[in-house]
Amino acid sequence: MTPETPGLHHVTAIAGDPQRNADFYVGTLGLRFVKKTVNHDDTGTYHFYFGDGEGTPGTNITFFPWTDAGRPGRFGAGQPKTTAYRVPADSIEYWLERLESNGIDVEREERFGETALRFADPDGIELELVAAESEAQHASETTSGNAASNETEATPWAGGPVPTEHQLRGFRGVTLALDSFDATAGVLTDVLGYELEAETENRRRYLSASGGPGSVVDLVESDAGRGQMGVGTVHHVAFRAESVEEQREWREAFADHGLSPTEVIDRKYFKSIYVREPGGVLFEMATVEPGFTADEDIEELGSTLALPEWLEDERERIEQRLPPFDGPNAGAEE
Ligand code: ZN
Repeated sequence: MTPETPGLHHVTAIAGDPQRNADFYVGTLGLRFVKKTVNHDDTGTYHFYFGDGEGTPGTNITFFPWTDAGRPGRFGAGQPKTTAYRVPADSIEYWLERLESNGIDVEREERFGETALRFADPDGIELELVAAESEAQHASETTSGNAASNETEATPWAGGPVPTEHQLRGFRGVTLALDSFDATAGVLTDVLGYELEAETENRRRYLSASGGPGSVVDLVESDAGRGQMGVGTVHHVAFRAESVEEQREWREAFADHGLSPTEVIDRKYFKSIYVREPGGVLFEMATVEPGFTADEDIEELGSTLALPEWLEDERERIEQRLPPFDGPNAGAEE
């Protein structure tokens, strides 16, 4: 018996220029720069995390900015296509205006009873802001502070350029692009406990049994051919594991399904296992603990180059090799 999947933990993508990447996610989208570290497997590359005021699991998009010299990726089947954030229902007009005034092309779409604003980040990574029908109700239900443990709530960031009432509320979900639905759908339903919620001709919507934030996975069939990982593509999607014990159960569940999960890897802010699902998308199961305050206080998040203990001896050499980056330009409050 495997645990219930509570939804997304983070999404990780590959950007080009680090400055442009951070300026967009902080200055335009109003996320907090919650951690500046390096790719543990490639210490010449930064690893940026952007999230809510506390870097709550379920709100964080993370990037390896390969610089503009990095190999361009190509979108295609076997990749995450879209990362969707929740916004309050009455913030859609604010965001339409904000994005367009920043020169961003926005497509507005109605889908499964929700309004979605779709646009691309500066590297071409597709994002959506979704005004879920349930958002207003959800907010009023959880302001009592009695939210269930799996109902990760976004914490506002008072230091950002977006007024708190319009700020992104963490993930709504992800859309995965596939050659065909079935094998990936099988992992969602048979291993991760997702349930088919709705479908159209080319889109199936799955919801995690526990509901709550980051609980949507949409599948779309793509005839774009296989994608290639590189700048402008999403590298992997991480789901939350509430504990290391739960993570171990997930690992066994993936193996029982005939997949090949990795051993547990210490990512400093969470422990992770990875598994390539049969449609080609890399899944991760990441623990909620210890989180981003493992090495910085809440007030200080993102202010230093954070390195895990095992890289601390190499700090000077690592700092010299990293590309130019002055910290995010958060822009002016409006
Ligand atoms: Zn990850």
